[in-house]
Amino acid sequence: MELSHKRQTKGIMDGPAEECGVIGIYSPDCDADIASLSYLALYALQHRGQQSAGICVSGEDGFESQRGLGLVTDVFEKEDLAEMSGNLALGHVRYSTTGSEKMINAQPLLTSSIKGDLALALNGNIINHSELRSNLEERGAIFHSDLDTEVIAHLTAHSFSDDPVEALVESLHKLKGAFSLVAMTENRLVAARDSRGFRPLILGKREDTYILASETCAFDILEAEKLREIEPGELIVIDGSGIQSRFYREQCQSSFCSFEFIYFARPDSIIGGQNVRLARKKMGWNLSQEAEIDGDIVVPVPSSGISAGLGFSEESGLPYKQGILQNKYIGRSFVMPTENIRDLQVRAKLNPISSIINDSRVILIDDSIVRGTTSRQIIKMLRSAGAREVHMGVSSPAVAYPCYYGMDTSRRQQLIAAEKSREEIREHIGADSLTYLSRKGLLAAINAADRDYCTACFDGEYPLAR
Ligand code: SF4
Repeated sequence: MELSHKRQTKGIMDGPAEECGVIGIYSPDCDADIASLSYLALYALQHRGQQSAGICVSGEDGFESQRGLGLVTDVFEKEDLAEMSGNLALGHVRYSTTGSEKMINAQPLLTSSIKGDLALALNGNIINHSELRSNLEERGAIFHSDLDTEVIAHLTAHSFSDDPVEALVESLHKLKGAFSLVAMTENRLVAARDSRGFRPLILGKREDTYILASETCAFDILEAEKLREIEPGELIVIDGSGIQSRFYREQCQSSFCSFEFIYFARPDSIIGGQNVRLARKKMGWNLSQEAEIDGDIVVPVPSSGISAGLGFSEESGLPYKQGILQNKYIGRSFVMPTENIRDLQVRAKLNPISSIINDSRVILIDDSIVRGTTSRQIIKMLRSAGAREVHMGVSSPAVAYPCYYGMDTSRRQQLIAAEKSREEIREHIGADSLTYLSRKGLLAAINAADRDYCTACFDGEYPLAR
């Protein structure tokens, strides 16, 4: 699956870093095994973050939580989950876009104030986080983490409203940026999206249990049905009286992240009615139509280029060959100090199959190029495996601008396309040719007619000013 490659190769591969995954569950049954449901849902969202994981349950004895650094399977023990009983839960998997990789930054964040207990889990990036934090510190707030989420917690605590949900809504009005938030009081589950809806948040149902999740793949594992997406600027509250929905922001306009389709989301997830894998295949079809590449075989970079590679092959009529083997059993690795060792490290994860590659003109397909280091290493390996020519096809436009809405490319100098022309990139990665999918081809593949998308990392057209 595409997600596992990205996860396993983080640290040496040069894809964009993922953001976070969130879940929220409400069951009318206090004896529901809500912690286990949360565990499974987070397991399905693991591709969205591998640095930490956490579950918080609200039960008769208040909040109980388990959080830790690492993968979902490492953080939670069966015994821990068995002890967490209640009818409300939040869960979070994290890749840090703000805040460093340490235990204190693991979510859900638990706070307690005169308004009662509140747990928060966030996916996104609050652009005015520093300014809000400084203002709060001047007013005496003491922060324990680097998290955006803690800013929301302090804003909520400082509100004049006694009701924690209304206090939370007041705080949301002060935020600028991208956020899909799930929150929990002792007896209410809350979900909110920013007014542009950059990051996904979806509502589902399993029997009489409501589930909120970043992606529909979390519903599949729980055998839950998707009900609908939370709309940009919408807030929903779920409790014993059902679901209440309202728009806490006016004049909302969708700027959904197009990179969710290209890279972030799991291929079996459905976004806006579209299967992600199929959208990626269409990117490959469109790339094939736009590209003027002559080759013998289409080889995907596993596993990020597989769907687009299949689409390219179908449209071009050229044979699809899995000419690079992926070692699925390698976990996280250190960034090695020298280029030679780094090359060997890539080879430990991806190995070209000479009998397929040898003497062929290879069309190599990947979903994106961020820094270019991995593409260069893979092309070098293909040549040493006997490729006569290597033509690189990328199923998205060049990533030339940083993202301020939750993808970890916020420093422009990390992006090879910000500094180099297409020809310079081709030369840098050592390809015979380099073709990117056009913005038009991308938008056609994700059916952009039905809503507006953010494409700022490709064109610099930021939906929100910084
Ligand atoms: S800048 Fe790129 S990654 Fe960031 S939200 Fe927009 S499309 Fe997504």
